[in-house]
Amino acid sequence: MKIEEKIAEIVSKLTLEEKVGLCHGKGLFQTGSVPNLVQPLIMSDGPMGVRREFKVDSWDEIGTTADFVSYLPSNMAVAATWSKEMAETFGKTLGAEARGRGKDVILAPGINIVRSPLGGRNFEYMSEDPYLISKLVVPLINGIQENDVAACVKHYACNNHEHNRLNISVELSETALREIYLPGFKAAITEARSHTIMSAYNKLRGSWCSHNSYLLKDILRNEWKFDGVVISDWGAVHNTEDAVNGGLDIEMRVETNFDDFFLADPYIEKLKSGTLDMKTLDFKVSNILRVMFRLNKFSPNRQKGSFNNIETYKSTLDIARESIVLLKNKDNILPLKLKNKILVIGENANRIHSSGGGSAEIKALFEISPLLGLNMVSGGDITVDYLPGYTSENDIEVALDSICNYTDVIIVSGLNHNHDREEFDRTDFSLPELQDRLIDKALDIKDDIVIINISGSPVAMPWIEKSKALIQLFYSGMFSGQAVAEVLLGEVNPSGKMPLTFPKKLEDSPDHYFGDFPGDKSISYNEGLLVGYRFYEKYKIEPLFPFGYGLSYTRFEYSELIIRDLSVSLQIRNSGSFSGKEIIQLYIKRIEIIKERPVKELKRFSKIELEPDVTEEVNFELDLADFSIFNEDEGRWIVPKGEYEILCGSSSDNILLSCGITI
Ligand code: BGC
Repeated sequence: MKIEEKIAEIVSKLTLEEKVGLCHGKGLFQTGSVPNLVQPLIMSDGPMGVRREFKVDSWDEIGTTADFVSYLPSNMAVAATWSKEMAETFGKTLGAEARGRGKDVILAPGINIVRSPLGGRNFEYMSEDPYLISKLVVPLINGIQENDVAACVKHYACNNHEHNRLNISVELSETALREIYLPGFKAAITEARSHTIMSAYNKLRGSWCSHNSYLLKDILRNEWKFDGVVISDWGAVHNTEDAVNGGLDIEMRVETNFDDFFLADPYIEKLKSGTLDMKTLDFKVSNILRVMFRLNKFSPNRQKGSFNNIETYKSTLDIARESIVLLKNKDNILPLKLKNKILVIGENANRIHSSGGGSAEIKALFEISPLLGLNMVSGGDITVDYLPGYTSENDIEVALDSICNYTDVIIVSGLNHNHDREEFDRTDFSLPELQDRLIDKALDIKDDIVIINISGSPVAMPWIEKSKALIQLFYSGMFSGQAVAEVLLGEVNPSGKMPLTFPKKLEDSPDHYFGDFPGDKSISYNEGLLVGYRFYEKYKIEPLFPFGYGLSYTRFEYSELIIRDLSVSLQIRNSGSFSGKEIIQLYIKRIEIIKERPVKELKRFSKIELEPDVTEEVNFELDLADFSIFNEDEGRWIVPKGEYEILCGSSSDNILLSCGITI
C-alpha cells in the first residue's frame, strides 16, 4: 500500500478527539498519541545539541546522568566554516544524537537572518547573508534527516530579534522578504525537504506567524509545496480559529494545561459545533502521519541512533577547527613558539558556555575551555598560568602587573550566554565588565598580546588598532578550547571566515542607522535589502571586519579568471609555507546603479585545501537565476538584462579578479 493510502486508512480509524490529540502538546515536548495506532511525536531542542531531559508534563529535569550529551558548535560557528561538508557532518551528528536520545524532531536549525549586532539569538542563527544560509542549511538538514529524525527549521519568519518577540509586528517590503528573509527557509523546504518547520512568535505585517496564512499557506504549501508539519513556537498561538485556518498543524506551549490549548478542547468544541471543519483537521493529521511514515516510525527498520560516541567527538572537533576565524596577525605573531611559560588572562578562558543561552542550552558531557585546551596541547613542559583579568578593578591590577613577566600572553575576551541569549537583545555593543580597559592597558604594556574573542555577535573593539593578533570564536562546541589551542600553536591552520559583518560602532549598523531598532509594537525594516555587507558597501561605511573575511597562516594567489557563457573558472595557488584551506567567494555586481539595491551579492563559494606551491582550478557554474531579483509590481522573480561584473575574491571587501558579462 502506498503511504498516502496508509495515511487515509489510519485517519479513517481515528475519532475526532484522537485526531485533535495529535495536533497539540500533550507533554512539554510531545504530542498526544493513540494506543496501538499512533505514537506521540517526541521533540527536543535544539541547535547546539540535544537538550537535557525534562519530565513529560513539568519543567523539572529528570536530573540523572542519563542525558549528558555532546555540545556541538553553534549555528554561527558552523556558518563560519563556510563548508557544506562541515554543515553535513554537523547535521549527521545532531541527528544521530537526537535519535539516540529517542527524539523524532530536533528543534533546529535556527536560520533567521542576523539583522542587528545586538540580536540576542544571533549565535543560534547563521549569517546576515541568505545565500550562505541556503547553501549550508541544505546539507545540514539532509544530515539530520538521514537518521530518521525530522529537522524543525526555525523561526519562520522574521524573528530576527528578541525584544518584545511575543507581540512585535515586523513590517518590511515584499522584496526584502523574498530576497533576504525567506531564501534560507525556501532552500530548507524545497531542497532539503525539512519534515517540519517552526512558526515564529512575532507577527508579520500584523498577523501572528502561527496564524499567518500568507506565510503558512500561500508561500509554504502552495509555492514551496510543503507537505510536512508546521509546529508553533512554544506559546505562539493566540486563538483557535485563526491558527487552524491559518495553516498551523501542531500547537506547543510552555504551560502544562495541555487540554486547554487552543488546538485541544476548544478545537474539539468548534469542530462539534461546526464552526471549524473536519476536512482541515484531517489535512493536519495527514501531515503529521506523513512525517511519521517518513521517519519510519511505523517500521521495524527505523535507524538507530547513538550519542557521545567517538565518531561524534571527531566530527565535533573537525567543525570546531574549521570554524575559527583569524582576524589579525600582524608581524606573523601567530602561530606561537612557546618557550617555558605562558600567561592566559580573562574569565572567558576558563568559562563553560554550554549550559546557557535559553532553549539552546546543553547538558554537556564535557566542554574544553581555552585554558584546558592550552594545557592539553602544550606538551607538558610549558607552565600555563591563568588570571581572571577583567571582573574587578583588582583583577586588572594584578593582571597588568604580571604581563611583563611573560613572553607569551593571551587575553580571552568576549560575551557569554548572559548576553548571547534567548528572550533579550543586548543593550550595549561594548564588551561587558572591565574588558576594554584591561585590553587597552595591557596592549600599552605589550603590543603582541594575542586576543581571542568569544561571542555569537559583533562587539565593539575600541583597542583594535593597538592589537597585532586577534582570533574570533563563535561558541565552537565541546572542543572549542582544544581547537583554538591548536590554532595558537600552529597545529591547525585557521580557515574560517566571517559569516557576518562586525561594524566599528553600533550606529554604523543598518538597523541603527535607520533608527528603528529595537521597535516596540512594531518594527520597520527600513533598510530593505541593505542588510549586513549589502548596507556597509552601499553606504561606504568601513566595517571593523567585513563579511567573508578571515586570514590564514599561508597565502593564496588568485589568477586567470575565465568566463565562458555562465561557466567561471579561476586558478588558486598556495604561495605560502603552510598547507591551508581557502574560501573563494564569487559575487555578482550589476553595473546599473539602483538606489535601493546592493552593489554586489554573494552567489557562489568554494572551500579548497592546498599544499604549499600547489595550484588548483576552481569552477563555478552560474545560471540565470543567480541574476534574478524580485519584482514587487509583478509579484515574481525577473532577470534584468544588462551589464554585470563577476567578482572573485577572498572576502566581500577583497575582490581580486573581475570580468564583465552581458545578460
Ligand atoms: C524557542 C524555540 C524553542 C522552544 C522550545 C522557544 O522559546 O523560541 O526556539 O525550540 O522554546 O524550547
